Amino acid sequence: MAQKARRRFLKLAGAGLVAAPYLWRRDARAAGGRVVVIGGGAGGAMAARLLAASGKGLDVTLVEPKTSYVTCFFSNLYIAGLRSLESLTHGYDVLSERYGVRVMHQVAVAVDPEKRTVRLAGGDMLTWDRLIVAPGIDFRWDAIDGYGPEAAEIMPHAWQAGGQTELLRRQLEAMEDGGTFLIAPPKSPYRCPTAPYERASLVADYFRREKPKSKIIILDAKDIFPLQDLFEEAWTRFYPGMIEVLPAEFSGGIRAVDPATMTVTADGEEFKVDVANVIPPQAAGRIAHQAGLVDRRGWCPVNPMSFESSHQAGIHIIGDAALASPMPKAAYSARQHARICAEAVLEALSGENAKPGVLGGACWSHVAPDHAVRERATFAVVGGALQRIELDISPIGESDEVRAATARDGDDWYAGITADIFG
Ligand SMILES: Cc1cc2nc3c(=O)[nH]c(=O)nc-3n(C[C@H](O)[C@H](O)[C@H](O)COP(=O)(O)OP(=O)(O)OC[C@H]3O[C@@H](n4cnc5c(N)ncnc54)[C@H](O)[C@@H]3O)c2cc1C
Repeated sequence: MAQKARRRFLKLAGAGLVAAPYLWRRDARAAGGRVVVIGGGAGGAMAARLLAASGKGLDVTLVEPKTSYVTCFFSNLYIAGLRSLESLTHGYDVLSERYGVRVMHQVAVAVDPEKRTVRLAGGDMLTWDRLIVAPGIDFRWDAIDGYGPEAAEIMPHAWQAGGQTELLRRQLEAMEDGGTFLIAPPKSPYRCPTAPYERASLVADYFRREKPKSKIIILDAKDIFPLQDLFEEAWTRFYPGMIEVLPAEFSGGIRAVDPATMTVTADGEEFKVDVANVIPPQAAGRIAHQAGLVDRRGWCPVNPMSFESSHQAGIHIIGDAALASPMPKAAYSARQHARICAEAVLEALSGENAKPGVLGGACWSHVAPDHAVRERATFAVVGGALQRIELDISPIGESDEVRAATARDGDDWYAGITADIFG
């Protein structure tokens, strides 16, 4: 028991807790500096790992409530019954055991940029020399009449992976053949711009196999959507007549929902549906708002050379919460932000000379099983702002062999990025 208590004490002291007389011990051990990372997703876990593995003696603490992380990326394959949830689930053991990241499974509730502290829901207080905030997204629950956290238990967004993703899968499985599935994507910017349309494609494949009389309605808050001609090419070929797109210019986009009657209302039109996937407008995760990191649009402006906040010195924001346009809100972007941010933190704390180079990556969209298209982009900081310097999109009319090879590349990408982040 005494040993257990001592182990816990050492863990907490090392995390930079404000624990009065013993602080000197932690400081001696962490001569390289204390870094606290809030959020153990694609961005935060990657940054924690890079810093802990840097060999610069940093004391790195990762605050993340979940004990395992389910990726949103590739979750559409699970929803369509093409991949298991286990294959999308990753733990934090490698980060803590191999790299020495101190992982605390708690929620960060308050950041004090002046005192350089983070308070956790359990009451613990962490101190930091540099703070990395990577909380992902939160939803604007006031944007759609009737759609709040309770309605999301009936009309799931499935835009944060885990329970919501499983709920949508169960609802689609339970739906009768001949039912209607409605997807309501939001206006930009939002997490993973192509993912609603990949979801429509893969659910259409599931319907084609299991419930061929069913229909999909995409009630879009936009007039056009990314990779539209590639998706429409695939829908015409694989799922003719199954997917109907209602752009905002005709429907006005989603206005209200009534989960009790499974009704979705657009401008002047009501849709009675069997399964509704309502993806509300988004903003940076709540803690970023509390910490004073957001602009009036709800996202966090950063210096693209370091991903340091434009509002608070010493705090970096990475991943979907950061305002890093034209980079999309994607896991591949989050990983690149983490790299730039880790270099900047090392420079600040250890005198390393960071030189942010080119940021690049690719997003895969499955339009059918073993059939994927890809958007590869490269970004660089030009004149103080992030700019896209290259874009390479799968062309229309590619052969089945090329599309199958692209799907395999996507699988390799998934295996690579998750191994990079979680080990
Ligand atoms: C259906 C779908 C498909 C996608 N497909 C792709 C794809 O193919 N390729 C791609 O690159 N991207 C894809 N994405 C996007 C990708 O999932 C996100 O861009 C990525 O997860 C963003 O990483 P992040 O670290 O910013 O946020 P997240 O991965 O969401 O991580 C944030 C973490 O912070 C934690 N957190 C939040 N608040 C607190 C707090 N107060 N205290 C402690 N912890 C907190 C959360 O628990 C969470 O684990 C997809 C997204 C969706 C929805």
